[in-house]
Amino acid sequence: MDAAALWRVGESSPTPVHPVGPCSYDGAVSNGTVLLAEPRGYCAGVDRAVVAVERALEHYDETVYVRHEIVHNKFVVDRLREQGAVFVKEVDEVPEGSLVIFSAHGISPKVREMAEERNLRTIDATCPLVTKVHKEAVRFAREDYDILLVGHTGHEEVEGTAGEAPDHVQVVNSPDAVGDVTVRDPEKVVWLSQTTLSVDETMETVDKLRERFPQLQAPPSDDICYATQNRQVAVKKIAPQSDLVLVVGSPNSSNSVRLMEVALEAGAKASHRIDSVVELQEEWFEGVETVGVTSGASVPEILVQQLLAELAERGYGAVEPVRTATEDLMFSLPRELRQSMKEKGESDRRQRPSGRHATAES
Ligand code: SF4
Repeated sequence: MDAAALWRVGESSPTPVHPVGPCSYDGAVSNGTVLLAEPRGYCAGVDRAVVAVERALEHYDETVYVRHEIVHNKFVVDRLREQGAVFVKEVDEVPEGSLVIFSAHGISPKVREMAEERNLRTIDATCPLVTKVHKEAVRFAREDYDILLVGHTGHEEVEGTAGEAPDHVQVVNSPDAVGDVTVRDPEKVVWLSQTTLSVDETMETVDKLRERFPQLQAPPSDDICYATQNRQVAVKKIAPQSDLVLVVGSPNSSNSVRLMEVALEAGAKASHRIDSVVELQEEWFEGVETVGVTSGASVPEILVQQLLAELAERGYGAVEPVRTATEDLMFSLPRELRQSMKEKGESDRRQRPSGRHATAES
């Protein structure tokens, strides 16, 4: 299995367990076991956003700008940069009239307005499940609710959602922040959440909010997305039997950091998040017989395969997959891109691992 085949997970065979890449460790210790969480890695929203940038680079004969990291993963961003994507912090760095892609985390209306003022052509790769939360915020603001957005201040997704209704949204960072919340009418309050939080901690926050505001309304459907929940359920399953749980994911990836926390809460003796195998530390493996492995929703499978290869070198060669859910969700590419591809007679179809096509409008 080569790197390219493992790279585009949504459009290729997903997760064969074959070691790849060179290993340098010369102190193998034991007949250790790896418990490999399934599902892990790429979610449908990340897959769509990354493929959108790749297809845009192929399709347009001009520079493709991307506002912010398209997804929170260093490897993915570096690779797209090598392929020609130009990442910017804000749209005012993009030359007037150019093409810019908005990241999977979503944008506030203000960013959209700034892009319009610069006559930018835009492709919106916001995950449809984030867009759903935006729409909820708009709807409840229109009905004049106070919206308590459980999430992390400063995270791009939270800024985007809060920006939909800045006069109605308060961000609640944690259960400890509940005491600081003030509302206009305790009978007209709703909570929404960031999509990538710990389910358990979010419910703890919501329970505390409800103690203060018994009339607190819940979102119409779960805001914490299916991928976040599935990866947390899988890591909870492997954590109690693991001396060490390794989570592959970047430090700015909210769901990856949550996986590490969830693993510890679920009984892992230790847990560390790594961007790649080079961050492994010898002392983590002292006395360790069973290593749990998972990865965040923005992590390509190649990074997990490299970790498995390195673990095999260290004596953890027996890999036991532990599956708690099967995922087959795939989103179609952003509308603006599909339209442009159609005009040029290019196919915008995407193939699932199962061979079925993605047809759903996102
Ligand atoms: S983690 Fe969930 S909300 Fe975020 S991009 Fe993936 S599917 Fe969408």
